[in-house]
Amino acid sequence: MSGIGRRTLAPFWPCLYHRIIVMKTRKPVGARNERCPDRPAKQSLAIMSERKRSFMEAALDEARAAAGRDETPVGAIIVREGTIVARAGNETRALNDPTAHAEILAIRRACAALGSERLSGCDLYVTLEPCAMCAAAISFARIRRLYFGASDEKGGAVETGPRFFSQSTCHHAPEVYSGLAETDCAEILRRFFKGKRVP
Ligand SMILES: [Zn+2]
Repeated sequence: MSGIGRRTLAPFWPCLYHRIIVMKTRKPVGARNERCPDRPAKQSLAIMSERKRSFMEAALDEARAAAGRDETPVGAIIVREGTIVARAGNETRALNDPTAHAEILAIRRACAALGSERLSGCDLYVTLEPCAMCAAAISFARIRRLYFGASDEKGGAVETGPRFFSQSTCHHAPEVYSGLAETDCAEILRRFFKGKRVP
């Protein structure tokens, strides 16, 4: 099954977010487990409920809004007990802040809304595999579950690169579910960077 489903859609335009992003289709579950056999736990997305899909759609809405602001189109939401408590899109350009990734902003907003420095019991949905900075923030915030859409082979830090949650220095690892609405999440990025290419 190793050759099934792998397809390179890029490279895209070099971005402010993760240098050059290379998306690929989701690998078979067996191949993914081989790559990262210990933490974090991963489960088949085939069992994902429509409700979870709707939460990822909300994150996709944030990504589309970010694209409308000429920001790298990544969106994130945070859910607690079935309710969205925070949402954000990438705002690095608007805020002149390289740390203003969607996940970071969503975590800050959720903490403010809930009056807590930790988000135990909260789940984060994000359209792109988190980078190392965001993975660390997710760990520090004690996020319960992480759902992400497109993989980021160049800048990701969950299933690729440093695999932050699998390191011995990581003291809280969320449950991780990848590939949720992956095609839609990758397509937004592909279109955005295609539009940036020099003719
Ligand atoms: Zn990030």
